[in-house]
Amino acid sequence: MAIANPRSDRRNAPNRSFPHPVYVARPLLPDFENYAASLREVWSSAILTNAGPKARALESELSHYLGVDHTLLFNNGTIALMLACRALRLRGKVIVTPFTFQATPHVLAWLGVEPIFVDIDPDSMTIDPAKIEAAITPDTTGILGVHVYGNPCDVQAIDAIGKRRGLKVVYDAAHAFGTCVNGTPIGQFGDATMYSLHATKLFHTAEGGAVAAKDAETIERMEHYRNFGIVDEFTVKDIGINGKMSELNASLGLCVLPLVEGEKVARRARAQLYNEILGRNVRIRVPEIAPIQDGSFQYYCVRLPQRNRAYDELRKANVFARKYFYPLCSNYDCYKHLHSSTPSNLPIANRVSEEVLCLPFHSGLSMDDVEIIASIVSDAATA
Ligand SMILES: *Cc1c(COP(=O)(O)O)cnc(C)c1O
Repeated sequence: MAIANPRSDRRNAPNRSFPHPVYVARPLLPDFENYAASLREVWSSAILTNAGPKARALESELSHYLGVDHTLLFNNGTIALMLACRALRLRGKVIVTPFTFQATPHVLAWLGVEPIFVDIDPDSMTIDPAKIEAAITPDTTGILGVHVYGNPCDVQAIDAIGKRRGLKVVYDAAHAFGTCVNGTPIGQFGDATMYSLHATKLFHTAEGGAVAAKDAETIERMEHYRNFGIVDEFTVKDIGINGKMSELNASLGLCVLPLVEGEKVARRARAQLYNEILGRNVRIRVPEIAPIQDGSFQYYCVRLPQRNRAYDELRKANVFARKYFYPLCSNYDCYKHLHSSTPSNLPIANRVSEEVLCLPFHSGLSMDDVEIIASIVSDAATA
């Protein structure tokens, strides 16, 4: 979506519209010939799926990149999270944030587990550990936190609650590929961590997911679950499903992974420019920008009372910002009847969801594009 026009032409021009639609995300695409070369190897092996050599190679590269002992690949992040929760024997009720993509509570519901929504911290927008304990009942078996926009949950506090109260801790790190907490990789916390490898995520395999876990038994269960519960030719131990990643997707991942660091550098520069322009407006709250080695740079999200106006003004300019995460999961038809969904139980999440706006954020945006988008948002915030 690079726009060639010089700054002076468009930044302050009355018509700041883009000639092509500008989206929040754009998938990182490797050089096509690289991918074709990898596919040629797949063709000559005639192995297209079933934990083939490309998937195995990507699992080991991801373990290394993510700084975790063990990674398993799946056909998408939702199935990956569902199988991690099942492998950890989550039943009854599980404590979860409402400020997330709907896949997070859906996974619990598909397992017959009731999501218990707990409010978020107003700064990190992740689940508030101080409110978790009060929500624990004898039926509670786990805590499912989300590192929303790549902001790490308070992992120390949540892991400590899990240990103290005998609950499993699972993290949805769909936004947190490569996030570190004071140098410790995010996937080292909790009992399992899920990464989505969907095309809109920083690192992707078009469709895909991964789980990092430590416990050997949990890993073995997930491996069986993703392949119909098959142990060997004549033994089916568990009620599994098809959660396998194909060799075509794994090949794409092997080509995309080397591009991630460069993309992070480009996104960080764009985040800094957004912050510089939007931070001058007192009505806009800009995010803190993590150092390269700690951040995932998945989304760039601002908060402003005039969020809807900013969204509408951007739409007029052909810019498709996203109100992640509005509506809250607890306000969807399928969850609003739950006791924990009552808005008075979730005042901060309800307020934050009215203020958030994710802006286009990828290396395909020129610095001029960033300036134009920022100026539209800033004008809308003060209008
Ligand atoms: C993208 C996303 C998912 C789902 O991942 P898929 O790979 O698309 O199934 C889950 N949780 C969050 C927070 C996400 O953003």
